[in-house]
Amino acid sequence: MDFVPHAVPFFLLAIALEYVWGRSVGRDTYRLNDSINSLSLGTLSTAIKLLGLDLAGTVFSVVESRFAVFRLDASSVWTWIAALLAYDFCYYWFHRISHERSLLWAAHVVHHQSEEFNLSTALRQTSTGFLLGWVFYLPCFALGIPAKVFVTVASLHLIYQFWIHSRHIPKLGPLEWVLVTASNHRVHHAQNPGYVDTNYGGLLIIWDRLFGTFAEEREQDPCVYGILGPLRSWNPLWANVHIYAGMLHDLRHTRGWGSKLRVLLGRTGWRPEDVSLRYPREKPDLRSFTRFDPPVPTAARFYVGLHFLALSAFSLWLMAVAPELAPAPRAALLAYLALWLVTVGMMIERPLAGLRLEWLRLPLCLVVPVLSGGLPASYLMWAAYLAGSLALLFWMGKIVRAQLRSVEAAAVVCSSS
Ligand SMILES: [Zn+2]
Ligand SMILES: [Zn+2]
Repeated sequence: MDFVPHAVPFFLLAIALEYVWGRSVGRDTYRLNDSINSLSLGTLSTAIKLLGLDLAGTVFSVVESRFAVFRLDASSVWTWIAALLAYDFCYYWFHRISHERSLLWAAHVVHHQSEEFNLSTALRQTSTGFLLGWVFYLPCFALGIPAKVFVTVASLHLIYQFWIHSRHIPKLGPLEWVLVTASNHRVHHAQNPGYVDTNYGGLLIIWDRLFGTFAEEREQDPCVYGILGPLRSWNPLWANVHIYAGMLHDLRHTRGWGSKLRVLLGRTGWRPEDVSLRYPREKPDLRSFTRFDPPVPTAARFYVGLHFLALSAFSLWLMAVAPELAPAPRAALLAYLALWLVTVGMMIERPLAGLRLEWLRLPLCLVVPVLSGGLPASYLMWAAYLAGSLALLFWMGKIVRAQLRSVEAAAVVCSSS
């Protein structure tokens, strides 16, 4: 059984509680733009599954039925223990190689782009992981772990990793020796020189201790979160493809098939010499690190907050009705969700460009009841949403422009004084 969908309301409640707790103790670890971006990426990675592109299930059942070495009994507790250990071991290597090789890093990077660290970071997941990630779990099926045991263990393993994304949980004494905890996972998300490429475990940290990839969190070296080549964008589509785009660029411009192959299969960060000379990339310097936090007028923040709630309701509705829809309208509704997510990201990155995109996105909402074969009441609901949002957008647009003009004027005064 997959427990993840049942856990989502608890995830959202825990995020709200962590936020309230942080505010009450004077240590708020949330930023609206960063949290919206993380939740947007979580929404997209869940919604992309509606396209049914995932081959993993088919391959897993073939391996399980034809190539399994053993036939493990799902009613035995030992099968469950073996499944958990095997899954966690495969996860360790999958996760480690996802950091060490560009082709897999291109997918996994999404989880690491946040420059904050809180429970919303846990929901920040890739939308391209389905391409290669499943390969690493084939040994579980070759061992004869039944599919239903695998699915249950995988979902519990994922749920376990939620709570470890918090800055409020201190070190947990002897548990630090055995389990992946908030402390050792903070280190995994940090870009400090001594912390990069460590602590890959999902449930047990013993794999890191065994294979030499463990690093302890040190008080004198506080974690600086994020990736070495910062994303500096709130666009969830770009977040999913920016490493692939960089690889494609290097692949096109480098000479020699050996170099091209190494761009695809080489270590993360490696670039062909001919390309890095012609197109150098800035080397990051942690001493001058600043978080990506473009200013957003209050009115735009209010508008985005309101519409992100509407977007969340829309995505939950889409997940519920999608199985009943034909592939074409399902894909079209998913494209609309992606446009909505991009618009929200644009409004917190470049508010004026976001406003323009929103004028395009809003009228398109009328295709939703058409594509989903909605009842007359749903046409009315979307029409009311459109009318209300257009009025709000018109009113807010004026305020946002006025606020941006006053920010620019203040900046001119500051620079001339
Ligand atoms: Zn990672
Ligand atoms: Zn994480």
